[in-house]
Amino acid sequence: MKITKTVCEFRNLLSNATSPIGLVATMGALHEGHVALLKEARANCGTVVASIFINPTQFNVKNDYLNYPKNLSQDIEIMEDNGVDLIFNPDLEEMYPQSYTTTVNVKDLSSRLEGASRPGHLDSVATIVIKLINICQPDFVYFGQKDIQQLLMIKRMIIDLNIQTRLVSVDTCRDADGLAKSSRNIHLTELQKQSAVGLFSALQVARELRLNGEQSTGQIKAEMKRVLIQHKLNVDYLAICDPESLSEIEYINGPAIALIAAYCGNTRLIDNTLI
Ligand code: AMP
Repeated sequence: MKITKTVCEFRNLLSNATSPIGLVATMGALHEGHVALLKEARANCGTVVASIFINPTQFNVKNDYLNYPKNLSQDIEIMEDNGVDLIFNPDLEEMYPQSYTTTVNVKDLSSRLEGASRPGHLDSVATIVIKLINICQPDFVYFGQKDIQQLLMIKRMIIDLNIQTRLVSVDTCRDADGLAKSSRNIHLTELQKQSAVGLFSALQVARELRLNGEQSTGQIKAEMKRVLIQHKLNVDYLAICDPESLSEIEYINGPAIALIAAYCGNTRLIDNTLI
């Protein structure tokens, strides 16, 4: 396994790589969710590339960026154990030199839900992802369903901009009690972790209601909210949407997705499920 910090060396190292090339983009602080992506890439690609870069522009709150968990030596070990061939770990200047000005905007998909709560966040995600794709030119890119809005937005961007890569979506990896793995879970106390399970419980309630024939999203959301409050979670948004456009729906007649963002103490958590 090789590690590089520069675009130039990265491209050189990839010039004779065995196809297909798979890219897993991460902000580090790896957990089993990231490992699921690495495994999927390893099973299907000749060369597996992973990036570790905490993208400052996608953080709305400076402290969130500064406190974002970091564990580079362990990340490198996990990547090596999971068969990564090449790690791209650029410094800030390499990705955003002083002269940098461009931002990518995927209209609609980047403005609702996460986009409304965290203005500019998804534009910054789209921008860093297209930069990583352009640098790596992978045949496949791997993204987790836990960040479904990000995944759908990148899928849209790949189609719209004729990018020659295929997005592979990977199921959300969870703790045994249902809590979705997240780098931010490290900020949770044991007690808060029990609260945080409320996101999964609320999603389960939505699924059950839907399975029992409930079509009114108002009714379903009211029950979900009850569960979240019961778990002492502070709801940021709660939505039931079309699973492709993420536009909100009132009555469910086909596939739908339930999405939650909620604060557990100071930690903002997101989760979603098809219902
Ligand atoms: P991050 O390091 O948080 O930017 O995440 C990097 C990639 O890992 C993204 O594609 C995420 O959607 C994915 N990911 C994060 N958490 C999970 C999870 N619990 N299950 C599956 N994929 C995940």
